[in-house]
Parts: sequence; structure tokens; C-alpha cells
Amino acid sequence: MENLKYFPILMYHLIVERKNARVWDNFCLEPAELAAQLDYLVRKKFTAINFADLESILQGSRLCPQKPVMITFDDAYFESLKNAAPLLEARNLKGIFSIVTDYIGKENKWQKANATEMTASRENIVKYKGPFISFESHSAKHSHLPRLAPEEIERDMSNSKEVIENITGEKVRAIFYPYGSFNENVKKAAAKAGYKYGLAIATSKRAVAEDLFEIRRVYIKSSDSIGAFKRKVSSWYIYFRGIREAVRHKRGQP
Ligand SMILES: [Zn+2]
Repeated sequence: MENLKYFPILMYHLIVERKNARVWDNFCLEPAELAAQLDYLVRKKFTAINFADLESILQGSRLCPQKPVMITFDDAYFESLKNAAPLLEARNLKGIFSIVTDYIGKENKWQKANATEMTASRENIVKYKGPFISFESHSAKHSHLPRLAPEEIERDMSNSKEVIENITGEKVRAIFYPYGSFNENVKKAAAKAGYKYGLAIATSKRAVAEDLFEIRRVYIKSSDSIGAFKRKVSSWYIYFRGIREAVRHKRGQP
């Protein structure tokens, strides 16, 4: 389990050719750049796991790979799915797409810069799901969950879980908090709604999976050079980030 302590969980958003992007910002990445990053993971012998794998590892029914990594795509845009899935499959890497269920097959409304980007449809999900591509929840409405009443949070989350499970026929284990924002109410509601894992961005916990409802992720930006990417997937980067975030949290900074 030692290998899970500071393992990288990468956070991507929109994978799109720059010439086709309506707006280009740090939430975008060119497919060719993603391919170069995935090649690096393969070269360095990382094993990409999904949440079913993580569950088996934590239950002790599966050995933890030497160098685990998780590759996650927030918002499950169709464009990301279409561009990333073939790159992942060709390299035997698993990718995880977190989807906002009220927007399945509809235009995104929360990321203003890419307000017309389409979320994957039911047909897309069915077509792409498989051993390399899994779908988890990014809530029903992409609300700032800490602002909602506890019952409302739980309703949103259990509804979203049910919708995805009905489409895929697979168990949904993880909730990716919209905007990475959570508090104790959100974490409790996630557990009550039947999730096993809650994905944040920055957290006060030092190790990645010290608290399974407050799992840290690494934001990969389009402005990152391949050198920056290599640094961000190293366990020492994640180790030091853990210390920094824990200290900030103690001081009450975000
Ligand atoms: Zn999002």
C-alpha cells in the first residue's frame, strides 16, 4: 500500500486541437501533448488504474502496481472522450471520465469559457465504456456543493450515481466534487449516497488517499512543459505538495 501514498492522480479537462477550440485556456490540452505525456508514463512504467482496481487493491484482493497512476478527465466532454480514448487504449492505459449527469448529451453551462462544449451523450458513454474507459460522477448539476443543504447534496449525488449506473451497468464508486470544492457535509453526503471515493484538488491531508473522501489530484495545464509534467507526476512533488497544503490549511488559507 506504500505505493499509493503519494501516487499521481492527474486532472485533465478538455482535450481538443487548438485550432478547433473556441477558447484556449489552461483547461485545454492538445491531443498530441496528451499523447506525449502518456508516452512518458508508459516509458516510466506507470500502471494506470481505475476505481474498481483501487477498490480491489484497498481490499487486498489485488496487488498494488509498483507505480500506479490515475488519469482523470473532468466534465466528460465528448471532444475529450473522442480524442483521448484512442490514445489511452493504444497504450494500455485506463482513463476515467467524470460526467455531470443533468448535462448528458447537452452543452456545458458551468465552464463559461467553453460554454458550448458538448458533454458525452448516453450513446457516447455506451460506445466508449470498456476495460480502458470508465465513467464516474461529477454530480448532477455541477453546483458548488458546500453551498447546498445536506439533503440537497445527497439527492444530487445519489441521483447522479443512479443515472450513470443505469447507462453503463457498472458500479459508480467515485464523486468528483465540482470546482474541487467540498466540506464535511459534502463528504458525509457522498458516503451516504453510496460513493466510496471523493475527489478533490487541494486537500489538507498529506498523503493522497489518507482520507478517501478528500483525495488529492494534480492539475495538468496546457501551459505545462513536458518537464513540468514529469515533475508533477513524481512522488516527491506530491509529497511536498501535501506538506504545503497541510500547512496552508492549518493557517486557514485556501
Ligand atoms: Zn467540472
